Amino acid sequence: MSLIVQKFGGTSVATSERILAAARRAVDAKRAGHQVVMVVSARGKKTDELVDLAAQITDAPRAREMDMLLSTGEQESVALVAMAIHTLGEQAVSMTGGQIGIITDSTFSKARIRSISTETIQRHLDAGRIVVACGFQGVDDEQNITTLGRGGSDTTATALAAALRAKECEIYTDVEGVFSTDPRAVPEARKIQQISYDEMLELASVGAGVMHSRSIEFAKKFNVPLRVRPSYADGVGTLIAAAGDSDSRVVTGLALVKNEARVTMLDLPDRPGVMSTIFTRMAAHKIPIDMVVQNVASQGKAEVSFTVPASDLAETLTAGEEAIRELGAGQIQSGTHVAKVSAVGNGMRSHSGVAAQMFQTIANQGANIEMITTSEIKISALVDRSGADGLLQHLHQDFQLEAPRPTAPAVGVKQTGPATWDAAAHDALLREVVGRLGSMEDIVVSEVLLDDTQSRVTIHNLPDIPGTCAQLFTAVAEGDVMVDMIVQNVSHAGAAEISFTVPKADLDRCLLLVREVLSAWEGAQLSSERDIAKLTVVGIGLRTHTGVGEKMFRALAEADINIQMINTSEIRMSAVVQLDQGANGLTALEQAFGLGSH
Ligand code: ASP
Ligand code: MG
Repeated sequence: MSLIVQKFGGTSVATSERILAAARRAVDAKRAGHQVVMVVSARGKKTDELVDLAAQITDAPRAREMDMLLSTGEQESVALVAMAIHTLGEQAVSMTGGQIGIITDSTFSKARIRSISTETIQRHLDAGRIVVACGFQGVDDEQNITTLGRGGSDTTATALAAALRAKECEIYTDVEGVFSTDPRAVPEARKIQQISYDEMLELASVGAGVMHSRSIEFAKKFNVPLRVRPSYADGVGTLIAAAGDSDSRVVTGLALVKNEARVTMLDLPDRPGVMSTIFTRMAAHKIPIDMVVQNVASQGKAEVSFTVPASDLAETLTAGEEAIRELGAGQIQSGTHVAKVSAVGNGMRSHSGVAAQMFQTIANQGANIEMITTSEIKISALVDRSGADGLLQHLHQDFQLEAPRPTAPAVGVKQTGPATWDAAAHDALLREVVGRLGSMEDIVVSEVLLDDTQSRVTIHNLPDIPGTCAQLFTAVAEGDVMVDMIVQNVSHAGAAEISFTVPKADLDRCLLLVREVLSAWEGAQLSSERDIAKLTVVGIGLRTHTGVGEKMFRALAEADINIQMINTSEIRMSAVVQLDQGANGLTALEQAFGLGSH
């Protein structure tokens, strides 16, 4: 018999009608032959109300009492949901975090799960009951009630789904699912049937509020399919699983971020340690930086650009000035009227075609591209903010994201549950789940990669006018050259510089193609380097964990490695270095992040 975890957020149990509707979901799933574990949050804004109430009594409530208080929100919910299930004629039992066997440490208000024992839940399930569990809470060794941090019910749900080897973890919420882009900005936005974990993580800015990135990463690790479903309607929502949609679309979703500012640091010395100094300063000021681009240095001067939340700009400039003082050289510039538009898709194995199309649409709108970064499955371009909404609409159209799927869904989710009960394997799984939970809120760098198969192509003095990138990548795409990493830095004096990497074997062909386009652009120059190495740190939440960049660039600086190019996204940070420094760089990074065989 398969097991389903159903998680209901606060809005999905806010009123008695909604509680009944939630109960009906569980009853339907039970009657369809599943075992059902519900994980329920506090009703509506209950947790906020309890926080306010405490604040009326004291400025400094003790943490233990705060958790005692906040945990009542979920207790109220589970009791009501269980009663509702009873009225529908099924057996149900409501349980607190402690009762379902979630033991945490004693860090009140942000406790970490230490162990989960699933026997009690399993016993109730085997007796034919629906288990209605409190999200967001556990108990410590002394039986004190603890809470897992705001939004912690997602953690409870994904942890239980992994520990119980659920077939699926359904997340009921107040949206219809995950959309191809924000439907408030683009009414034609289409609900996505199925999306991969990585696509969802890269689209975090679109999916904001749907689910915490950490829970998605967690589900990915244990291969728990997540289904984001509306609680107010019958829709099947969006399945977040290992594979994305099986249709032929190369782009799955688009994201637009408008509240960012651009910062450029130029005239920097081109030597090891410079990026490390800058990232250390930014991390010290806790500034989440994104879209970091560093292009190949010219005339011994390096330059780096990145974006920060507009509200952090003043602080960023301060941090930047500090770094410049420390380095003894450099200047800082910024721009605020910018927007970041990104296209994400698993089908983006090669960027050339997608990039060409994206840049063409941008050119058609007469918009100029200020910066470009890419990850394996994402291309981001920084453009002027005015017209960004219109641009998003055109991109949505040109990538045919509103069109119905060309093929029928071949969903086929793998059943992850074991065929036979194996106590030892189950214990090992529980240990692994719990071990992983320990680092759930920490910096999670899962892998460091070295790619030594690429070469670099750079175009200097690219005319800073709309359409050049489109022409460039159309030519490259038509020559069937796979483009991996694309980096364009902010332009100066009307000229931009763009670099990208291509497989070594394609370099000569690529240079021929590029030369042809280049001949039309006065002053543009081409350079390339056959022997480069790309070092990539893979993880999640790299943006908010300001320490990752710091660590990465410090490790490279300490190994005396100069960085030629940088490129970042939510889930990866890449640096291009000289080929003969690749192996050293890999070792340095593995050591810095405690990975590999060291
Ligand atoms: N009720 C808690 C909160 O509002 C936990 C949750 O909703 O996930 O943060
Ligand atoms: Mg909540």
